[in-house]
Amino acid sequence: MQKGELLYEGKAKKLYATDDENVVWVEHLDQATALNGLRKEQIIGKSALNNQISSIMFEKLNAKGIKTDFIEMISKTEQLNEKVEIIPLEVVLRNRVAGSFAKRFGLEEGEVLRNPIIEFYYKSDALDDPFINDEHVKYLGIATDDEIADLKKETLKINEIVKEIWASIDLSLVDFKIEFGRNKAGEIILADEISPDCTRLWDKEGHHMDKDVFRRNLGSLTDVYDEVLRRLQGV
Ligand code: 5GP
Repeated sequence: MQKGELLYEGKAKKLYATDDENVVWVEHLDQATALNGLRKEQIIGKSALNNQISSIMFEKLNAKGIKTDFIEMISKTEQLNEKVEIIPLEVVLRNRVAGSFAKRFGLEEGEVLRNPIIEFYYKSDALDDPFINDEHVKYLGIATDDEIADLKKETLKINEIVKEIWASIDLSLVDFKIEFGRNKAGEIILADEISPDCTRLWDKEGHHMDKDVFRRNLGSLTDVYDEVLRRLQGV
């Protein structure tokens, strides 16, 4: 497979074309951002950790019948993905009170929710990724009623699978953000990544094993991601 022209550069990844029009070459970057890109730091080693963690998670989801864009990992920092058009939604699923949910409702972090809660955010750096509801998603022409229902159903299914994987390595899945894309056949499939960059994970002692270490200045991000990868590789 030949790496082609740069198609897109995001906050943590670069996407390149390949000699197959349905395949993109993804390179993870040693970059961490917070506050919608206002805070940006280079963190050596983060790209390899995220790429490896996300590859393992997507492989496991593929094996459980979840349709994803993941094809294969080709180096510690790179993977091949099926080309999709990303749906401009950040789909957040919460199992416990934390982060912006705790802040919005003035709650302490930690409580386990009776049922998982799904939220949509409109992917727009210019607008600071606003919180939106189903009617907004429909109005903006992002997805139809049926597609919204499917996205929620798929997100709940993904939650059950990844919750079990994280629990098997003694990590409590607090919440996560995922993204979906439309492939050439028009199917909506899981895309982007599943890593501690976009997932809150707490260990048995309540330590943050995710990007909150960076967001809240709690220590070495790569030490924590390294531990998550080490545990995952043992499963
Ligand atoms: P919150 O809304 O509480 O800040 O985030 C909820 C979950 O979604 C957390 O696991 C967080 O990591 C993830 N998340 C939300 N927005 C973003 C984003 O813009 N980038 C990344 N990497 N993760 C996000």
